[in-house]
Amino acid sequence: MEIGMTKPRTTLTRRSVFRAGAGLAVAAMGTSLLTPVSAQAEGAGQAGAEPLNGDGFYRFKIGDFQATVISDGSGQIPIRPILAMNVSEAELAPVLKTNFMQPVIQITNNILVVDTGRERILVDSGFGEKLGPSFGSFPGLEANLRRAGIASESIDLVVTSHGHLDHIGGFVTKSGAVAFPKAQFVFVDTEWNYWTGSRFESEVNSSPMPDLFKKGTIGAARDSLPPVAARSRFVKQGGEITTGVNYIAAPGHSPSHATILFTSGKDQFIHMGDIAHNPVTSLQHPNWSPIFDYDPAQAIKSRKAILDRVATDRIMVMGYHFPFPAIGHVVRRDTAYRWEATQWIW
Ligand SMILES: [Zn+2]
Repeated sequence: MEIGMTKPRTTLTRRSVFRAGAGLAVAAMGTSLLTPVSAQAEGAGQAGAEPLNGDGFYRFKIGDFQATVISDGSGQIPIRPILAMNVSEAELAPVLKTNFMQPVIQITNNILVVDTGRERILVDSGFGEKLGPSFGSFPGLEANLRRAGIASESIDLVVTSHGHLDHIGGFVTKSGAVAFPKAQFVFVDTEWNYWTGSRFESEVNSSPMPDLFKKGTIGAARDSLPPVAARSRFVKQGGEITTGVNYIAAPGHSPSHATILFTSGKDQFIHMGDIAHNPVTSLQHPNWSPIFDYDPAQAIKSRKAILDRVATDRIMVMGYHFPFPAIGHVVRRDTAYRWEATQWIW
């Protein structure tokens, strides 16, 4: 097994992401690495107009809105340093033991689709084909959308939490076609300006990310944003996206990172974007910083503000990288929080 960096490539592959673990990759990460959920589920549950939850998607309600979480696959990452760059081995070890966790964990991308009755909205788009065929490639997301009975052409709005690789990579297929051909794309204006501007490349290159993530992040901004520019709409930070759907400012993970609030009747639901990456490292230890945070101190402030709000108001939330289906509640515990995953309903 190769460990350590060799020639970076613009397209991240199964082995290159492995190496991006910056020497922390261990032999245990072997063959199951980056096996997409879509491949595991392939061929299952084809019959019937209303396939059961569990086949790469999960349906639930937000008031009158019909919501569906679509899996964009999964992969393995080392907790240190990727999700906890400011934590020592000695600090991490007892937390892993208490939570029955391994040093290398599975991480997922979960794509949210919400039908408001007026519009069909998709939030973030996964890696697309940016990681090659092994992690949540667009055919994987597309296959899981199809299983859920959702055609790519039926998406009216693609709403973006922030401009990172794993959130915008699915905008465009390998052949360069826009993956959601009839959709309008929505961004916080300053987030779009950053990732299409002149500063991001040198700032990504001087960040603590492993080289292959730097390449992937820069490549995704260059490849995924220009093709949707002409069909994009820009919203002020914290502004209304459409009736019942609002951005909530949560900067720090990226310059103008935002969470997304859905409101239907008395029900609220918040897509937390990347203020929290994992139930243990982010909720139990909100001061632990993932290696991807643009401004770690600001990201911690935003993380705590959102977690405090959803815990206080008992708002159901989604963690984009949480274990599928990634929906549940945040509960206050001591000076931090814990995750209460939703009860699975078949
Ligand atoms: Zn992310």
